[in-house]
Amino acid sequence: MNAQTLNKHLFQFIAQSPTPFHAVNVMKNTLKDAGFKALNEKEDWQIKNGQPYYVIREDGALVAFNLGRNNKGGFRMVGSHADSPCLQLKPKADIYEKNYHQLGVEVYGGALLNPWFDRELSIAGRVIYQGEKDTVHSRLIDFKRPVAVIPSVAIHLDRNANTEKNINSQKDIVPLVGLSGDSKESFTDILKNQIIADDSSVTVNDILSFDLYCYDFHKPCYTGFSQDFILSSRLDNLLSCFLLTSAVAQANMDISYMFICNNHEEVGSSTASGARGNLLSATFDRIFPDPSDRHRTLANSFLLSVDNAHAIHPNFPEKHEPSHDIALNRGPVLKINATHKYASTGVANGLFKMLCAEKEIPVQEFVMRNDMACGSTIGPLTAAKLGVQTVDIGAASLAMHSIREMTGSRDPWLLFTVLQHFLQRENLPGVFHSD
Ligand code: ZN
Repeated sequence: MNAQTLNKHLFQFIAQSPTPFHAVNVMKNTLKDAGFKALNEKEDWQIKNGQPYYVIREDGALVAFNLGRNNKGGFRMVGSHADSPCLQLKPKADIYEKNYHQLGVEVYGGALLNPWFDRELSIAGRVIYQGEKDTVHSRLIDFKRPVAVIPSVAIHLDRNANTEKNINSQKDIVPLVGLSGDSKESFTDILKNQIIADDSSVTVNDILSFDLYCYDFHKPCYTGFSQDFILSSRLDNLLSCFLLTSAVAQANMDISYMFICNNHEEVGSSTASGARGNLLSATFDRIFPDPSDRHRTLANSFLLSVDNAHAIHPNFPEKHEPSHDIALNRGPVLKINATHKYASTGVANGLFKMLCAEKEIPVQEFVMRNDMACGSTIGPLTAAKLGVQTVDIGAASLAMHSIREMTGSRDPWLLFTVLQHFLQRENLPGVFHSD
């Protein structure tokens, strides 16, 4: 494996993962191929040392773990989230206006809305339908072609568009999916037809519900004369999901490790599959039914919470802390915040820096300016819930939450090298001397 091959697989992963449901499905397949076995939350678990397992909740969150053959001490823990800001279809999506067929959408997460205009959009997600004999099915769907567009209003009709553009998310971003004509085929009819086109053996009596999202149809690519950059949708946080899955799939079976990938980070994490939910703590409860075993294990564990970080933007340097420039292709970023919007603490930062130094990987330190609000991620929620030593890290990126985001072309490789080292190192880097 080298940086080029890793990026090729990253591009494939992102292209196959238009929604968190698809991302979790691809991660599951990678782990299955690596020998992980499925566990179901509704059943009893018989856990064997040295046999890695995975658990999926609500199709959008995944936990994968291995209780090491020589289990002692704590778990190497890694975490990320699979959702990205986007447009989610409303339940009664059809709108027929001025001879156009449109679909109503809600804004999911803190999306930068301007870049969604004039793009080829497709639709993907999960459809719940009634099949034969009143059975209820859930099925992943992906139109895999441009089916929607949000046209800009021409500058001739909005002379101040370049200086005063405001976006009304109720009125301005309703995607067009066709002309209504006389037939007025409804969106649920279109969904039925697509399910049957995907698999002609399926019977769909009624579409009951769906979780569907518009996504950017374009595939990830390199850009820059020397291919210094990667441009792609959903780098936040599929980049981290991909690197963690790849590193976990190759981890040593002798050690204990835990991978959590949550859904709903972009909307506050307060769901059953989000970081405020109990998927991770319930998994630990079942592995260690005895509370004192569980607490001792967690106290000896170390979590790398992986999510992208802001690189300095050359056109807007005033938005960044002057003495903490974050550069692309200059190594993983440690995220630090005095109000603990990031979980990183002095001790955890020191341990992570040591891991990087052992592989001669440079490391950068991010802080937000005091006069700007700081973002957050799953790290602090998980650290608070489990009491586990945590550091928030990630790949440097630009245009976070745009429909196309950017990272450096060597950044995935630099971060992967450290993650892989963490999951293969002989001992946990937890031996810390308090002088
Ligand atoms: Zn994120």
